[in-house]
Amino acid sequence: MKVIVVGSSHGGYEAVRELLMDEPDTEIQWYEKGGFISFLSCGMQLYLEGYVKNVNDVSYATPEEMRSKGVSVFVEQEITAIDPDKRTVHVINHQDGTERDETYDKLILSPGAVPATLPVEGTDLENVYAMRGRDWAIKLKQKTVDPDVRNVVIVGAGYIGIEAAEVFANAGMNVTVIDVLPRMLDTYLDEEFTDILTKEMENNNVQAAPGQNIQRFEGKDGKVSKVVTDQGTYDADLVVVAAGIKPNTKWLGDTLELTSGGLIQIDDYLQTSVPDIYAIGDATLVKFAPTDGKETRIALASNARRQGRFAAKNALGYKKAMPSVSGSSALSLFDYNFASTGIKEGTAETYGVETMSTLVTDSYRPPFVPEKHGNAEVYFKLTYDPNTTRILGGQIMSREDVTQNINVISLAIQEKLTLEDLAYADFFFQPDFDRPWSILNVGAQQALRDVENRK
Ligand SMILES: Cc1cc2nc3c(=O)[nH]c(=O)nc-3n(C[C@H](O)[C@H](O)[C@H](O)COP(=O)(O)OP(=O)(O)OC[C@H]3O[C@@H](n4cnc5c(N)ncnc54)[C@H](O)[C@@H]3O)c2cc1C
Repeated sequence: MKVIVVGSSHGGYEAVRELLMDEPDTEIQWYEKGGFISFLSCGMQLYLEGYVKNVNDVSYATPEEMRSKGVSVFVEQEITAIDPDKRTVHVINHQDGTERDETYDKLILSPGAVPATLPVEGTDLENVYAMRGRDWAIKLKQKTVDPDVRNVVIVGAGYIGIEAAEVFANAGMNVTVIDVLPRMLDTYLDEEFTDILTKEMENNNVQAAPGQNIQRFEGKDGKVSKVVTDQGTYDADLVVVAAGIKPNTKWLGDTLELTSGGLIQIDDYLQTSVPDIYAIGDATLVKFAPTDGKETRIALASNARRQGRFAAKNALGYKKAMPSVSGSSALSLFDYNFASTGIKEGTAETYGVETMSTLVTDSYRPPFVPEKHGNAEVYFKLTYDPNTTRILGGQIMSREDVTQNINVISLAIQEKLTLEDLAYADFFFQPDFDRPWSILNVGAQQALRDVENRK
């Protein structure tokens, strides 16, 4: 069997790995149009802040290593068209300009996405950057030490924008984060959390400018110098646009069914509208566990990786449905660590579900443990269906790292657990790590009281 995998980031890499694990004799051709395989944007901040010295280390695989496992790796070779009747793909080799067709038995597409550009004047000015992939990582790194860069404006207060803000603030620059939404990290966390994080940003020389629409970027001598919104003008030597992504799927429109937003339509088995062609990653939708598998867009490496595994299994003929996901994610911002999963109070309406939420605060370890020995306040918010008490989402934050708790909530969502299940669930106690009652127990017990009091 010959399987062609397109795209070498999280989704493509994981599909190749699964093919090798399940059936190592499969003939695998792996294509990447860029000059480098398996660059992981998730590790970009670690490189930009100097924890990882070499940009090429932000990767899980090298062509040599994969070739030694029998994979034919093609770098700087782009798949530009598919002929499903002939079962061929058209390849352009950007190294020498040659073109050819390659046959496949099964095709797995993980073409991902590119940063969205804003529909405003001035996006083509010098020093208007994005943050995704190796090329941008190298360019951004240069800017962290550029003496001409004093004022940095980040457009977009999601995870990527917040990572960029922290990088440039830690490099000693004045940073402003602009977002059209009313709060920083608005799609990830509720107000109780974002209020604290916004203060934390401001304490670290990052100004928050929420609820503002970008009107244009202005320039001087071809370089960006100002960002103009509907509410103000901000000096800018560098602009990093992190305002969403658009799928890399233009070339697929004549072959596969796409959504109106250009995402590839797939079924539970990751199969596209055309037999033997599978699609995964940021160019697809996922099934959302809190809403019993309704399709939604959650662009995360964790999703791409799971899909990669399942697509490979299905391509090999093991019929395996991809489980729903909860959109779990975590991040640190200066001294805080936070994580969230599922539905929160602020997104319940979007998902069309009735929810109730309970916020509890507690100390990470017993109160007798001093802060300087690793104690801190923990904020935990649980979101659930008030009628069935089914758990639908959770958010957690602390100066200590308590983020792993959110993986328990993710599993609870997936397994359709209720507050009753969580309230007295057996979790360990050890004063080095937690309290006699885990914050998850405390949250669920309080939520049960809140539900009772509502009646
Ligand atoms: C700064 C940053 C930090 C992030 N941090 C996290 C994190 O901590 N956790 C998390 O879960 N997610 C994180 N993400 C999201 C995560 O990176 C994406 O969800 C993930 O990369 C999606 O993988 P993918 O395989 O779908 O596509 P992509 O990563 O977009 O990769 C697609 C690849 O396919 C190649 N390609 C496209 N079309 C073709 C073609 N026709 N022929 C050949 N090659 C092609 C592209 O060049 C590219 O290399 C982060 C993203 C960014 C930008």
